[in-house]
Amino acid sequence: ATTVQFDGDTRVLTVSNQKGGVGKTTTAVNVASALASFGAKVLVIDLDPQGNASTALGVPHNAETPSVYDVLIDDVPLADIVQQSPESPNLLCAPSTIHLAGAEIELVAQVAREHRLRNALSAYLDENTVDFVIIDCPPSLGLLTINAFTAASEVFIPIQCEYYALEGLSQLLGSIQMIQKHLNPELHLSTILLTMYDGRTRLAQQVADEVRTHFPDQVLHTVIPRSVRVSEAPSFGQTVIAYDGTSAGAIAYREAAVEIASQKTQSKEN
Ligand code: ADP
Ligand code: MG
Repeated sequence: ATTVQFDGDTRVLTVSNQKGGVGKTTTAVNVASALASFGAKVLVIDLDPQGNASTALGVPHNAETPSVYDVLIDDVPLADIVQQSPESPNLLCAPSTIHLAGAEIELVAQVAREHRLRNALSAYLDENTVDFVIIDCPPSLGLLTINAFTAASEVFIPIQCEYYALEGLSQLLGSIQMIQKHLNPELHLSTILLTMYDGRTRLAQQVADEVRTHFPDQVLHTVIPRSVRVSEAPSFGQTVIAYDGTSAGAIAYREAAVEIASQKTQSKEN
């Protein structure tokens, strides 16, 4: 069994990429589940109105469920909406509901609109011990994603190895710089994971090489293969770690999680 040491500091990672369908949610829930299986306490914050992370973690998130919406818009404490995933007592989820779709607009009129999540999370962490907070972002650079960037210190980008993979990445990096400058100097790109990798195609290899050349320190050695088991798991309300722990996808996500757990965070290096 894998043993990983956790030092009591909370790492807050936001899984972001303004492209949809690149594996953000799949990566957020599976890395979270793998870390929890190693003994870490992990909170996933579902910031996508689609609620796919909540679904994959087996957490109810119908319209009546208290959710991240209530935290961002009505000042409900995060602790009041956090649920435990049936997968593990170590795996927590702050669910999203469909109401979050309106939050992007409602936030515009709120006081401290870019800091709502940061403030709620900081109050939560005063009372609760968590090793990792993993925020699943919607595919846009709106106020929900800005709230994630302001609450986190690490950006975690999943990249699908296809032709347009790098398109939009410079826009994302520009947004990170802007957040660093104006809202959150701690924010940095710590991790890139290549997802849905098909090593049989030259294109996937070329994209992977290109990403590794540009970001030698951030790209994980592990790549996530395209695997039917990974895409089936959410329809059973499970991560692939729980659904089929011996599948290639589960093994790869556990290896990625081991790498993440052993990363030196920037603040500790400095
Ligand atoms: P995003 O959150 O970036 O929109 P998702 O994580 O929802 O992306 O993934 C998009 C689709 O691709 C989903 O249907 C998901 O099940 C599928 N998928 C993600 N990773 C894999 C993988 N490694 N193998 C097969 N299908 C995958
Ligand atoms: Mg998603």
